[in-house]
Amino acid sequence: MKKFTRSAGAALIAVLMTGSLLAQNTNYCYTDEMVRRSLDANPQLKADYLAEQNRLETLDQQAARTQYKDSKDEKAMLPVYIIPIVFHVLHQNGTENISDAQIKDEVRILNEDYRKLNPDITAVVAAFTGTTADCEIEFRLAQKDPNGNCTNGIDRIFSSLTNSADDGSKLNPWPRNKYLNVWSVKTIGTAGVAGYAYLPGTAFPSTTDGVLILSDYIGSIGTGHVSTSRALTHEIGHFLNLQHTWGNTNNPGVACGDDGVTDTPVTKGHTACSLSDATCTSGIIENVQNYMEYAYCSNMFTAGQKTRMRNALTSSTGQRNSLWTTSNLTATGVSTPSVLCNADFMTDNATNSVCQGASLTFTDIAWNGNPTAWSWTFPGGTPSTSTDSVPVIQYNTPGIYDASLTVTNASGSVSATKLGYITVNSNTASFSGIIYTEGFEGAAIPTTNWMVRNQSPGGNTWVTTTAAAATGSKSVMITNLSTSATYVDELIGPSIDMSAIAGTAPQMTFKIASAHRLSTNVDKLQLYVSTNCGLSWTLRKNITGAALATAGTTTSNYVPAAADWIVQTASLAGYAGQTNLYYMFRFTSDGGNNIYLDDINISGTVSAGIDEVSNNIDFNIYPNPVDENSVIAFNLMQKQNINIKVIDVLGREITTVFNGNLNEGAHQFAVGNNAKLSAGIYFVKVTVDGDKSFTKKMIVR
Ligand SMILES: [Zn+2]
Repeated sequence: MKKFTRSAGAALIAVLMTGSLLAQNTNYCYTDEMVRRSLDANPQLKADYLAEQNRLETLDQQAARTQYKDSKDEKAMLPVYIIPIVFHVLHQNGTENISDAQIKDEVRILNEDYRKLNPDITAVVAAFTGTTADCEIEFRLAQKDPNGNCTNGIDRIFSSLTNSADDGSKLNPWPRNKYLNVWSVKTIGTAGVAGYAYLPGTAFPSTTDGVLILSDYIGSIGTGHVSTSRALTHEIGHFLNLQHTWGNTNNPGVACGDDGVTDTPVTKGHTACSLSDATCTSGIIENVQNYMEYAYCSNMFTAGQKTRMRNALTSSTGQRNSLWTTSNLTATGVSTPSVLCNADFMTDNATNSVCQGASLTFTDIAWNGNPTAWSWTFPGGTPSTSTDSVPVIQYNTPGIYDASLTVTNASGSVSATKLGYITVNSNTASFSGIIYTEGFEGAAIPTTNWMVRNQSPGGNTWVTTTAAAATGSKSVMITNLSTSATYVDELIGPSIDMSAIAGTAPQMTFKIASAHRLSTNVDKLQLYVSTNCGLSWTLRKNITGAALATAGTTTSNYVPAAADWIVQTASLAGYAGQTNLYYMFRFTSDGGNNIYLDDINISGTVSAGIDEVSNNIDFNIYPNPVDENSVIAFNLMQKQNINIKVIDVLGREITTVFNGNLNEGAHQFAVGNNAKLSAGIYFVKVTVDGDKSFTKKMIVR
């Protein structure tokens, strides 16, 4: 086995494939048939084509006499022709939707084959080692589409025309004077066909010019195979005016024929790798390894084929001569190594959230090009700017921060700014007490403790409003009417030290009021909590459909009526004792209508000395927020002992409003003129007969 040379190995592989790969003998090239049909249907096209063939053959013969006497001179006089190429991948989301990597692998193979850089060039048999050619033709995936927009040269098209494909499957052709179009399909209508192309001047209409090929004949990776990865090399040979080595018949092995190229011997054509076959001319070995053969052990073009292709590229026939012009290489974006289209970036944390003092690692995900320079800005970060490719930034102060990146390479610069991209949360809770309550009566959000994220492009997001309130005069809401696109808006509350929350099974209640624009809308409101500064979030409540649309449907700008407010309850039983619990409301729009949120309340279900806020007792505080006229008002059905106190959020008694027996009937006590109360949240606690207590929130401004 040690004696296996590369060429022997290659030959063995080829022989094995003869026996095992159906593709070798049954999946053939349909170019000759399609060219014949096209020309037969268009007499003028046929006349022009034949005239052009005669002209190019004359050029070939002149070249054969003069051009290749000295291979060094040849190198010096010929430019490399660069051809922009686009792959239109027709697919239905199956395996025929081949990867970018598989296509790039095929482009690699094309450039090896057309530049004589293919490793198996060493396997060429001795009879042809002197005629192998570096065709000096290079293919580059387009970086600008016909409209001048950035592209990776891969055009994915969802279409059933990927099945039984033919010229009718050649969707979205890009102008053939600027691009070589390749259509990748799942199956071809004619059984056994792997692909076909049109020789210059034979495509009719011109929008069918290019190559149509099976997706699994592209590249050597993914669904492709090494053995079939030269099929596109072959078809592009046709596109550049090469015939099969045996001439214009699709049936190799029938009769000896010639392709009009001076240095490819007359041959019958081969479907097996009989490398020393000399059937047609005694003593003349045929070029079985030519890319324009069928033998699937191909690894070379001849110098004569190179001349023929390059002459085709200087001819206006089929507009091949405009593909490689300097102006076209600029227009298609292939003249610079890698055009930068977008300066996107990401962090090593999917939520882009950290505890204060922690760091995030930033990575650019710019495309298509590879940046050579980076310029970052990180407001709120340390450092606040960086020119590193992968900077690590520390955030020491809670808040929401933007981040920006400009990337540069030889093709230019592009920039991106992400607003509100980074969320830095406090390590210490901003609230501790026995009852947490939020009625949004204070400063408008966002505040130090309240953060708003993922603002929709239209600018509508969580805001404080006085248009409606469950209690008091304010709530928070999103104006969501006439929003068509799906978007997400998040409202992140202050962190809570749950260890002081009374009771063993804490829960959150909140009030919502919302409407849908249409009955088919599925807007969604979700409550999440986090115990790690927002690094990860756990869903606690999911409200959608009719449960969210508390006011049903309306196409007008929704403002809640008092009866629309519905209390929602979410268990936080698993979070008792947490010292830094964050909560977040995430609203996902489906184009419904406005949503309002108010009266968030976290408390234990059973407390030591304080009951959950209850609607059962008929007492009210009004106006609330309180002023000098505010009163506590209630009715008693019988004579009872009543104790009324004002307590703060930590449960400490501020003052006793009343303590004694009261008769059946209506009672009122003033609360608003108490000068001891500074601005903030308080509770009025009413204890009945010494054992049953009720509390309600009272706001002092
Ligand atoms: Zn062919």
